[in-house]
Amino acid sequence: MENKSLWTTNISPKIEKSLDKDIDVDVLIIGGGLTGISTAFYLKDSDMNIALIEQDKVGYGVSSRTTGKLTYLQELIYHKLEKNFNFKISKLYLDSQKEAIKLVVDNIKKYNIDCDLIKNDSYTFTNDENEISKFKLEENFFKKAKIEYSTTKNLPIEHPCKYALKVSDTYVFHPLKYILELKKICLDKGIMIYENTRALKLSKEDDFYICSTESAKIKAKKVVISCHYPFFVIPGFIPLKTHIEKSYVTASKVNQIEKFNAITNTYPIKSIRYHEDKNRYFIYAGNSHKLCDKLDRKCEYNKLEKEVKEKLNKQVKYIWTNQDIMTNDNLPLIGCIKKDDSNLLIGTGYNTWGMTNATIAGKILSDIILKNKNRYINLFNPNRPVSIDKIKNLVLNSYFNGKAYALTKFKKNYKWYKEKVRFETRNGKNLGIYIDNEGTEHIVRNLCPHMKCSLIFNEKDKTWDCPCHGSRFDIDGNVIEGPSVYSIKIDDKK
Ligand SMILES: Cc1cc2nc3c(=O)[nH]c(=O)nc-3n(C[C@H](O)[C@H](O)[C@H](O)COP(=O)(O)OP(=O)(O)OC[C@H]3O[C@@H](n4cnc5c(N)ncnc54)[C@H](O)[C@@H]3O)c2cc1C
Repeated sequence: MENKSLWTTNISPKIEKSLDKDIDVDVLIIGGGLTGISTAFYLKDSDMNIALIEQDKVGYGVSSRTTGKLTYLQELIYHKLEKNFNFKISKLYLDSQKEAIKLVVDNIKKYNIDCDLIKNDSYTFTNDENEISKFKLEENFFKKAKIEYSTTKNLPIEHPCKYALKVSDTYVFHPLKYILELKKICLDKGIMIYENTRALKLSKEDDFYICSTESAKIKAKKVVISCHYPFFVIPGFIPLKTHIEKSYVTASKVNQIEKFNAITNTYPIKSIRYHEDKNRYFIYAGNSHKLCDKLDRKCEYNKLEKEVKEKLNKQVKYIWTNQDIMTNDNLPLIGCIKKDDSNLLIGTGYNTWGMTNATIAGKILSDIILKNKNRYINLFNPNRPVSIDKIKNLVLNSYFNGKAYALTKFKKNYKWYKEKVRFETRNGKNLGIYIDNEGTEHIVRNLCPHMKCSLIFNEKDKTWDCPCHGSRFDIDGNVIEGPSVYSIKIDDKK
């Protein structure tokens, strides 16, 4: 069993050089996941000077660890949006997801992109009788929205299911292959892409933004923040508007694929799909939880592996984890971060439906930059008015984030770690020490530079993880996932 995403196996993209000199551009895109690359793609035919910087490799962030479904059946989201907002908003969200699917499929056809696209049916299902009433509410929405759907008590495979909703015209694909092809198209069109180039700071000077990286400065008229979790708190206050959800994903080799994908509507979410390239795989995700809720990562990995083996009778070939940003009102945050500044844009908060939402974000953000009309600009406006759910979840998120912060400060749960991890205070600094198989001590500062939470050690991935906002660091303290842009090496100042 390999501890890596199926999508990153057998792929070796050409890496672009990092930025080593100051540049001056019209548009700077920070982050090369599906959001950033889609934005660049929809700007490629303009005569603007565009640069995209990526701290690692384009496509290798959250987008390379998804289940890669392109569907508008997203658990039971529509009746929730209808209740929280109204039918019109919920229907508009549905339209945006259908449009995103069409955009991806059209791109794949137009550019002949080989990314294992398969058209299949999507199901949301439950094995709990008490949940069926919620499915009826979703059905009411579909009837009003004139969406074709059907219901069933069986999934296409043998799997516990008391009730399910099914829609067609949905797809699954290989997300990384798609992103890497968009990257090539952008490069051919003259977009500058710099990999291994991390944005450290963004400041405003007169009418320009200045972005500092480790070895250069970028002067830009407009900036798109597409780095998943922004590395700054102000503007935007993203930690107040969101929480992070973590899930675990497995891929097992199978002889035959089935043309459907499915997901449950209650936590912990279970998600199923198949994938076919040279081999055939059954992909199963589960154990989703709020980032700060279950801190023993190895235990969650083991539970999922056991479930796949014992209940689904399959051998796990690949296992990995992923985390996504959940917004307080279930709608993504796409558009201008500040009300009075159309030059600073963001696309994030996709509530685990980022294949469609990052695509539509790319279209919306490029339309804002090009001053084109787009019917979804108000829907996803990050400065939209406060809703009831938003307030409720703001309180809940603050509570959970506070709880995680307190837990990591005061309760070091040593039973999570076998003999390999120690915590110490030296010269007033809290340290985390991981001892590898050769007995070498790897010492880091046990403090996330982003908002000063203490870290937990993830024994499976061998990383130090922040349970508050999701930053991750390797055993030697190098940052591998934001929002922190700084490392936790013991001599670092941050
Ligand atoms: C378990 C799981 C399964 C999912 N499955 C699905 C699915 O089936 N269908 C679906 O629609 N959605 C799915 N999602 C959601 C989807 O994966 C995400 O919403 C989406 O990939 C986010 O894309 P992104 O471009 O915003 O982020 P990313 O792909 O993470 O891109 C952001 C990029 O920015 C870079 N970056 C970060 N900080 C900096 C910096 N300071 N400077 C420069 N670069 C930086 C990162 O390295 C990264 O490459 C799933 C999510 C999870 C957790």
